[in-house]
Amino acid sequence: MQKLDLMYTGKAKKVYSTDDETLCIFEYKDDATAFNGEKKGSFEGKGIINNKMANIIFRLLEKEGIRTHFVEQLSDRETLVKKVNIIPLEVIIRNVAAGSFSKRYGVKEGTALESSTIEFSYKNDDLGDPLINSYHAVALGIATRENIEEIKTLAFKINDALKKIFIEIGIKLIDFKIEVGFDSEGNIILSDEISPDTCRLWDAETNKKLDKDRFRFDLGEFGDVYHEVFNRLVEKYGE
Ligand code: UDP
Repeated sequence: MQKLDLMYTGKAKKVYSTDDETLCIFEYKDDATAFNGEKKGSFEGKGIINNKMANIIFRLLEKEGIRTHFVEQLSDRETLVKKVNIIPLEVIIRNVAAGSFSKRYGVKEGTALESSTIEFSYKNDDLGDPLINSYHAVALGIATRENIEEIKTLAFKINDALKKIFIEIGIKLIDFKIEVGFDSEGNIILSDEISPDTCRLWDAETNKKLDKDRFRFDLGEFGDVYHEVFNRLVEKYGE
């Protein structure tokens, strides 16, 4: 597989084309950003462990029958993935109130929700990724009604699988964001990454935050908690 041109530079990774037009290569960087790119940081090796964590999780999800973009880890920082025509929606599932949900509805962080919820943000940096409802997404031609229903079913299935994966290693899945899109055969599949950058993960016993909130709110131990989640994943599931 030949790595060709840089197609896109994201906040935490670069995407390269390959000599197979259905595949591309993700290269994870050490950078972290928050608050729509306003806050910047990093720690040495973040890209390596996020690459490996995302791949462990994608392999486990595949075993549960969830279609993902994962093809093969190429190196510490690089992974071969299916090229996906991304639907410009951030799909957010929540099991426990936190972050913008707590703020928006005045619900104390850590309050268990009566049932898991889903919401969408319109992926658009200039607009600051505004919340969007499914009717607006259909009205704007971002997705069809059928696509939305399929995405909802997929997202809740991923939630069930992820909750199990994490509770097995003593971690509660508070909420997470996924991105989905169409592969070359027109299937809607899971893309982007799943890592402590994209999930809120709390230690099941102590409720210690083991995710990007440590960077967002300067809580310290940013790199340490990523290593902690990585080590627990590797110990239980292997690399
Ligand atoms: N999230 C993400 N990327 C974003 C926005 C949110 O990965 O651009 C994740 C975030 O890490 C959390 C979940 O989605 O696990 C819900 O985030 P929330 O809406 O509470 O936003 P925040 O409080 O992070 O602004």
